[in-house]
Amino acid sequence: MYKLPSAPLITAQEINARLDTLASELKAFDFDVILSALTGSYMFTADLSRRIATPKLRIAFIKASSYGESDQPNATVHISGLEGLDIKGKRVLLIDDILDTGNTMYSLVKAIADYSPASITTCVLLNKESRRTVNYHADFVGFEIEDKFVVGYGLDYANTYRTYPEVWALEEA
Ligand code: 5GP
Ligand code: MG
Ligand code: MG
Repeated sequence: MYKLPSAPLITAQEINARLDTLASELKAFDFDVILSALTGSYMFTADLSRRIATPKLRIAFIKASSYGESDQPNATVHISGLEGLDIKGKRVLLIDDILDTGNTMYSLVKAIADYSPASITTCVLLNKESRRTVNYHADFVGFEIEDKFVVGYGLDYANTYRTYPEVWALEEA
């Protein structure tokens, strides 16, 4: 069993402040479409996109799921929702919750590139650099964190804890 510690790893205030600066940098790219990887990035995507808010900016949700041993560099990532999105020639901002081994983001970028967008810029809320097995780096990172299992602000443990407005590092109960 797991429990929440006495204080969050990243507070809602810290997240909000970081999102303000992230969004002001991202606004300059004049993106055509945000592609958000469900489910973990739903809260981050909502809060970031409302800060970018340009008239033409579209949003679409895609799904990436890992099968087998997700720690392995060649883990299979199944991607759905890219079909029929009309991203050819478009400036894409890809958003995910967390970069761990890097498998998910690497696979997503490769799959999106098959649709010939003009550019793909990637942004993750959290980065666990020490866990990386794939040589992949996001263009924008909200927070660098240590190798801890985190929940909240969209991230889950068995689909629970997602709705917390802060990021928490789970503890053994
Ligand atoms: P990667 O493919 O980079 O190894 O893993 C990325 C995915 O694993 C994330 O999108 C997320 O769904 C899940 N993940 C990795 N680390 C954590 C973590 O600390 N907490 C939670 N809740 N999910 C994680
Ligand atoms: Mg995920
Ligand atoms: Mg998950």
